[in-house]
Amino acid sequence: MTTPGSQSALRATNRRRVLEHVVRAGSPTQAEIARQTGLSAATVSNIVRALTEEGLVELTATVSSGRRAQAVRISRSTGLAAGVDFGRSHVRIAIAALSQEIVAEREVRVRRGYPAAEGVAVAREVFDELVESTGATRADVVALGVGIPGPIDTRTGLVGSGSILPEWVGAPLEELVDGSFGMPALIENDANLGALAERTWGAARGVDDLVYIKISTGIGAGLVVDGRLYRGASGTAGEIGHTTVNTMGPVCRCGNRGCLELEAAVPVILERLAASHGADLTIDRVLDLLDAGDVPARRVLDGAGHALGVAVAGLCNLLNPSMIIVGGDLARANTPLLDSMRGVLRQVAVPSAVEHVRLAVSELGARAQVLGALAAVFQSDHNILHLTGELSS
Ligand SMILES: [Zn+2]
Repeated sequence: MTTPGSQSALRATNRRRVLEHVVRAGSPTQAEIARQTGLSAATVSNIVRALTEEGLVELTATVSSGRRAQAVRISRSTGLAAGVDFGRSHVRIAIAALSQEIVAEREVRVRRGYPAAEGVAVAREVFDELVESTGATRADVVALGVGIPGPIDTRTGLVGSGSILPEWVGAPLEELVDGSFGMPALIENDANLGALAERTWGAARGVDDLVYIKISTGIGAGLVVDGRLYRGASGTAGEIGHTTVNTMGPVCRCGNRGCLELEAAVPVILERLAASHGADLTIDRVLDLLDAGDVPARRVLDGAGHALGVAVAGLCNLLNPSMIIVGGDLARANTPLLDSMRGVLRQVAVPSAVEHVRLAVSELGARAQVLGALAAVFQSDHNILHLTGELSS
């Protein structure tokens, strides 16, 4: 036991701050650790030396500002993080070392309409196989990140309405995951995980204020404010799909009128092109047509970009993010979609709120959610508790 305020308590606090920064940042240099934690270079150097001797961190050569430097990362042998992404017809699982290296990953197809309990059972089976393939055991896994394409009520642990897995609404997902995996689980909606993944591995590395918009059957946004995921009081922040962008538009499944989802989600885009291109169109085909200069495809995508721009202008006025990332099925539309959004932002947002905002598409594609589930574990306190041995004490 250490006396609060004593030298040894201070040393323990500083050591924890360094570890916390390394596990969240991946492989920062010692200078970056000093800058981010506010500790002196000498203190950081002493702590890193001690952590290296204990085998908790390792040093690797890197280049920082054109100079040779040493990056610090968590040793690969200290523990693992696991991530699961439940989709409409797939379950994707990945295992990473706490050093943020992905060590195993697999996607399995599941029948549409599968219930939550079946999804969790499939995930557990693949998880066991992947962990075994790395030569580790379940006890080495610090925590499990879980992504679902819909809201999860953070107060009750139940899947909320509006999920694109309608069979899952009201399912006690937290309980099912707890019962099957028996380890700390962090459940997030897919847009939140997209934001975390892009910040850890993708287009928004190191960005502290960003909005990730996932467009597929529905539309949701993951908000990172001041370096942290913003979930709101009950976990439903970022339901941008039900922002009104057309006050005279049709009535939405949510009861509201003229929602963004009715202007820019994938089913609407397909429906609008049915008259010119037939009813059996897929979104990949639409994006091919767009690349080939097809006029109807371009017009419908312009309309979607316009509606997105209106909704995003409101978000920019409210949050002033430095980056907006479009992920999901429309990410491949890239330049035409982003240009259309940018045009609207120039017209309707507060100029100072959008002056420096960067628009980009997701770099991680279909892997964004499972990588985000891993990132959720890196951002959580579970790994610090694991590394400092506080779990077992
Ligand atoms: Zn709606």
